[in-house]
Amino acid sequence: MQSFWVSCPKCGYPHFIKRYTKTELRNFPAYCKGCKKEINITLKSREPSKSVQLV
Ligand SMILES: [Zn+2]
Repeated sequence: MQSFWVSCPKCGYPHFIKRYTKTELRNFPAYCKGCKKEINITLKSREPSKSVQLV
């Protein structure tokens, strides 16, 4: 399965989290090395690669 990086919705850090096309996350505390803190994110499957919704 192909995986790719999602950039941080706050600081734009390019290697924020890794996901598959079908990855789904809800209220997931992802740690950003750019912000140096956790960000609560929600991802739905089949969205464009860089799409991230802030909760
Ligand atoms: Zn960040």
